[in-house]
Amino acid sequence: MIPLNEAQERVLAGCQVLDEAVVPIGRARGLVTAETVAAPEMVPPFDNTAMDGFAVRSADVADAPVTLAIAGTLAAGSAPHVTVGPGQAVRIMTGAVIPPGADAVVMVELTEAAPDDATVMVSESVPVGNHIRRAGEDLVVGQTVFEPGEVLTPGHLGVLASLGRYQVRVYRRARVGVMSTGDELVEGPEPLGAGQIRDSNRHTLLALLAEAGCEPVDLGRIPDDEEAIATGIRTGVDTCDALLTSGGVSMGDYDYVKKVLNEIGDMSWMQVAIKPAKPLAFGRVEGIPVFGLPGNPVSSMVSFELFARPGLRKMMGHPADGWHRPPVAGRMAEPLRRRADGKTHFARVRVDYADGRYRVRSAGGQGSHQLSAMAAADALAVLPDGDGLDTGDDVSLLILR
Ligand code: AMP
Ligand code: MG
Repeated sequence: MIPLNEAQERVLAGCQVLDEAVVPIGRARGLVTAETVAAPEMVPPFDNTAMDGFAVRSADVADAPVTLAIAGTLAAGSAPHVTVGPGQAVRIMTGAVIPPGADAVVMVELTEAAPDDATVMVSESVPVGNHIRRAGEDLVVGQTVFEPGEVLTPGHLGVLASLGRYQVRVYRRARVGVMSTGDELVEGPEPLGAGQIRDSNRHTLLALLAEAGCEPVDLGRIPDDEEAIATGIRTGVDTCDALLTSGGVSMGDYDYVKKVLNEIGDMSWMQVAIKPAKPLAFGRVEGIPVFGLPGNPVSSMVSFELFARPGLRKMMGHPADGWHRPPVAGRMAEPLRRRADGKTHFARVRVDYADGRYRVRSAGGQGSHQLSAMAAADALAVLPDGDGLDTGDDVSLLILR
């Protein structure tokens, strides 16, 4: 067996960053910038008011309460077509341009307009600049807004839109194929025949890929047949940036995925000192990374988390500190037992947040076939080799949501 970090390093070494692409911001969420974005214009583009109220000359209201003549109204979106002369005020709405002559805004709550709207009484004095948002206060022209390697969140996309940047150069989204293998696998509502089960891994893995920001490609179910598997893998590597297979990589007589990958790929077969997901096949077929994930449903998910997701994130340009899920501290709210076996166990757990930290309980049956506990899990708890953890023990968590 090899330690987890060694297996992860081997996988990451075989995953190269994809090429760059210019994509519309509507399709860029979660992708990583491959350019330095500089501001082509100021944000805000002009001095404007942060409040509904009256634009005034600060000096005019120094001896408030005072009454000023209303010279006009400025709405957001209109050009500043009125000037504020001495003794005057302009009614102004949030976001509207500060009109020439004004140097402050009095919020509407501190004013009272006459019934004929000819004058306004201002009840308090305000300093120069009051409630004025200055041009360029967020971004100035030429300023570096994003460096390469920035993961684009909704806020980033908003910043780009605010600058009129509707396209951005990023590392390409990985197209990742998923195929499940096994003669026992069926799909559909029909009653199961003898020995049959329904394919769950393919759906799980396609959804995990979508969640990881990849473009999932469904390559279907493949029977335990050498030729069919070889054809499936070749099609996959011809059309995708990476490939996930499920099943057929253990020691069984019909584990042909292993045989085929050995023939057509440059694979390493690892026994990783973890449970679940000890066996891992990783390598390249025609230069395309292929993850041979185990068939047991929990194992395939944990293997995806620990190996495929980090590798795919590297491929999509994520900086190194964003490849793995960060370990988060929690505390056991009940014992979680295990046996010493030289492996690190990843237990499926539920967490809640109490007294400023995560409280951790088992999510249910810990067998690698018990997918319902994986579905119920908020996190994987890292159980170091030994006999497990007691109530009150500190525990390291990989939060999954
Ligand atoms: P294998 O890795 O092919 O030896 O499969 C290990 C276990 O996982 C067996 O019990 C399989 O029936 C099960 N299994 C394999 N593929 C899937 C799948 N796509 N969905 C659900 N269970 C699967
Ligand atoms: Mg099988």
